[in-house]
Amino acid sequence: MSDSLLLEMKNIHKKFPGVYALKGVNLELRYGEVHALLGENGAGKSTLIKVLGGIYKKDGGEIRIEGKPVEIRGVTEARANGISIIHQELVLVPSLSVAENIFLGREPVLANGLVDFDRMENETQRVLDDFGLSLHAADMINDLTIAQQQMVEIVKAVSFNSKIIVMDEPTSSISDKDVDALFKCIRSLKEQKIGIIYISHRMSELSQIADRVTVMRDGEYVETKVVAETTNDELIALMVGRSMTNYYSRTYSTSEEAILKVERLCSAKVHDISFELKKGEILGFAGLIGAGRSEAMQALFGLDKITAGSIQYCGKELKVKTPEQMIQAGFALVPENRRDEGIFAAHSLKFNLTLKALRQFIRGAYVDTKRENEITDEYMKALSIKAASDQVTIGSLSGGNQQKVVISSWLATHPRVLILDEPTRGIDVGAKSEIYTIMNELAKQGVSIIMISSELPEVLNMSDRVVVMSEGTITAVFDHMEATQEKIMQRAVNN
Ligand code: ADP
Ligand code: MG
Repeated sequence: MSDSLLLEMKNIHKKFPGVYALKGVNLELRYGEVHALLGENGAGKSTLIKVLGGIYKKDGGEIRIEGKPVEIRGVTEARANGISIIHQELVLVPSLSVAENIFLGREPVLANGLVDFDRMENETQRVLDDFGLSLHAADMINDLTIAQQQMVEIVKAVSFNSKIIVMDEPTSSISDKDVDALFKCIRSLKEQKIGIIYISHRMSELSQIADRVTVMRDGEYVETKVVAETTNDELIALMVGRSMTNYYSRTYSTSEEAILKVERLCSAKVHDISFELKKGEILGFAGLIGAGRSEAMQALFGLDKITAGSIQYCGKELKVKTPEQMIQAGFALVPENRRDEGIFAAHSLKFNLTLKALRQFIRGAYVDTKRENEITDEYMKALSIKAASDQVTIGSLSGGNQQKVVISSWLATHPRVLILDEPTRGIDVGAKSEIYTIMNELAKQGVSIIMISSELPEVLNMSDRVVVMSEGTITAVFDHMEATQEKIMQRAVNN
């Protein structure tokens, strides 16, 4: 294997007014290498690749491509140097076909001056077929999924003879099946000796696709590691700059007092759901997507009609009617899809945080502003929510901080049973660890937590007991001492 370098970025500096975004960052890329760039939100990853792509001008440092120093002053120069960037926001023209997008601005013409559509479509189809993609050159971008559009972007990059392709969080909004297709595509780029810079904060993907990984933290270069020679724990420790022995901080519960007993609960979507929830325990709900975990909780919370079964709460029979009554009884449910169900993106942090505690039952305009400020201060401190002020719109916060506001808004209702549906999905490792700490604290105070999670390490480390669901019903319950990934998966895939 040749060790000559395709790309070297050395000691790159970039300052924005008030923000020192890159403080001497290094990155190198070999031919045919997938080099992952890892770091928490705000670490400077996007800024680094925008410097490479000619979108930002660097304030210092050096870039070499195939050994030669280059100055990249704009997007055209980046392209001329063989660099293509696939940004998080895709930029294809929706009303044009795949072929028209790929040849946009450089359409082949016939002798009579008209665009040679046949040649455009044939050449495009050939590349699509080479990649084994089931797409047609004449397909309209409008009709494609996000994942397919991403593939078109990759094909477009290849058609420009790019040597370096950068993908900024390509899997953040696509399904597992599409991730497989993307990885296949990346492997075929590797065979063509193209170098790939891959930005993602999904640790589990690294071992599947990346050769090396460079970690950044607060605009600084931390370290470059060979993926096969490192571990997730080590990478997390490098990302957050502290040891992760306390990553899942958990004091297991020993309480035997059942606060909730659910017996043979049925709804249109789940059947025979029976389990006990003890005071101060974290009860994990594991299973595959579609197993019915969220649906079971929706029935319990009064969002879905219960068709049979019974619920004992604090020793008394509980008749579930509406979510409002459940909240008053001491239940809280933090939904999975916080964008659509959890927040009012255009409203302030303060509004969102105090929404449930203060506004839920209010008709009319009166809100106790003193109480509102107290609650906001209390939870912003307790959950270390990072924001310029409590007046900023919640939509402008990072995913982790949004999630903390949503959790706070439910905590402010002082629940005794807190249901969290995928509480750490889509947020970075630092915020994850903080949410685990909060969950542990609540459990210690006697709050009972139901945590739905599709991440097995999270389920195994955080739960006192693990309930497994499959096809709308419960297939197993394990104590945390006996639960393993294998046992859970076995019961998640078949009854
Ligand atoms: P990452 O991609 O790792 O999440 P970014 O590169 O987007 O991080 O951001 C790094 C830092 O630079 C952040 O503090 C961010 O707020 C700041 N930043 C990024 N772009 C700009 C910009 N155009 N103007 C001012 N500050 C910016
Ligand atoms: Mg970014």
